[in-house]
Amino acid sequence: MSPLPGILKGLITTARTALRPTHTAEYPDVAPELPPRSRGVIALLEENCTSCMLCARECPDWCIYIDSHKETIPATTEGGRDRQRNVLDRFAIDFSLCMYCGICIEVCPFDALHWSPQFEYAEVDLLDLLHEKDRLGGWMASVPPPPALDEKAAEPAEIAAANRPARGAGLAGGAGGAGGSGPRMPRTVRPRAAGSPRPDAGGSSPAAPSPPDAGEASP
Ligand code: SF4
Ligand code: SF4
Repeated sequence: MSPLPGILKGLITTARTALRPTHTAEYPDVAPELPPRSRGVIALLEENCTSCMLCARECPDWCIYIDSHKETIPATTEGGRDRQRNVLDRFAIDFSLCMYCGICIEVCPFDALHWSPQFEYAEVDLLDLLHEKDRLGGWMASVPPPPALDEKAAEPAEIAAANRPARGAGLAGGAGGAGGSGPRMPRTVRPRAAGSPRPDAGGSSPAAPSPPDAGEASP
């Protein structure tokens, strides 16, 4: 059998492929178009971090290093209690060990860690891949804004909480009461059966659980 048909077939394939548009990106002359949720580097929003150590405990590579100390905040009212809060001394991630699993970002209860698509931080020396908190904080500038909410999605809890006083202002006139700093919502009053005791007469109702200390984080 003559080899000519095979050669022709190859030439046709080469010609067809040469005419197709190429997907090769000429990096670094042309910056790549990365998807918005690319995992480039982890950024730290230091103000949100309470040194709770959750991320360090859950990291499968043990490559997050956190040091902190406790600080006493004096009571603001007479007879009140002093409070304690954690102060972050060191937060570092060793990117020579990190496997970019994203667990630390997922478990952080205070949104202190975020993915940035920035990936240009290669180093000649492996030791330089240990990013301390100042460098991790610098990556925050490259974190993309969160995607817009779905049209019918519920309002985020933070925005709902921020808007609550403004919304309740109109209702606060006749609904004020002891305790609580914000305006109170009107209560639904149910009719009482004849002869039944008033719900607030005598007896003690269980105390409402006090909110967790905002400045104190569990170890
Ligand atoms: S991405 Fe994964 S491996 Fe890297 S620091 Fe976070 S938890 Fe650890
Ligand atoms: S889980 Fe979040 S708040 Fe807790 S130490 Fe890690 S980054 Fe800070």
